Amino acid sequence: MSEKEIFEQIENYFKWYQKIYGSSLYLKHEISDVNIVAQAPVQPASQKVTRVSGYSQTSPELQEFYLQIKDCRKCELHKTRKNFVFGYGNANAKVMFVGEAPGKEEDEQGLPFVGPAGKLLDKMLFSVGLKREDVYIANVLKCRPPMNRNPRPDEVMQCEPYLKKQLELIKPRLIVALGLYAAQSLLKTQQTLSKMRGSIHQYENIPIIITYHPAALLRNPMWKQQAWEDLKQVKKLLQKT
Ligand code: SF4
Repeated sequence: MSEKEIFEQIENYFKWYQKIYGSSLYLKHEISDVNIVAQAPVQPASQKVTRVSGYSQTSPELQEFYLQIKDCRKCELHKTRKNFVFGYGNANAKVMFVGEAPGKEEDEQGLPFVGPAGKLLDKMLFSVGLKREDVYIANVLKCRPPMNRNPRPDEVMQCEPYLKKQLELIKPRLIVALGLYAAQSLLKTQQTLSKMRGSIHQYENIPIIITYHPAALLRNPMWKQQAWEDLKQVKKLLQKT
């Protein structure tokens, strides 16, 4: 390989890295992560957590609920899903992260946030001193909309009782809504994300912080500074709970 080709490969690698992880916001943690990764066996990030069938560190109630709904066919999305994506994490979590819907990789693996957006979510958690095992992560929709299109109102209406029940069972002390659909669904509003961000909202007396979906941050890294402000608020509230 020529010197020019080697430099091109290095340049491409850094471009890819920047696309996935961004450039500055999590720099301190990225450096420590790089060190950790360098010492660890090579393994996809999505497999760094214990891989179980969608209800890790579960409670009997959560497990029973999973079994009740895992074959749901209430909306059209059951026809195109590969896997039902219930949720993942700690049934006793103090904080619950709520996203929109499974994407391609989530649909394939049956777990939430396992693609590039999931890697960024791991960084976001790390930045406030959390790991996946400390939190619970679920989506408003449990099945992937084809081609990752936006959820339709009828699908949200059919599926959101499941999220409501998960929240009842997990009883988090703080909710972080990732993106517009999660925020609108939880707050029963049509407000824009920019209007909702920056304030502490309430869902049945549980505080909610609204921030960007990690997939949106990957597409628009300039929003990371605002996301960092949201995460600082999450950290502050967690210290009080
Ligand atoms: S998206 Fe929700 S309501 Fe629709 S089939 Fe899947 S689990 Fe059922």
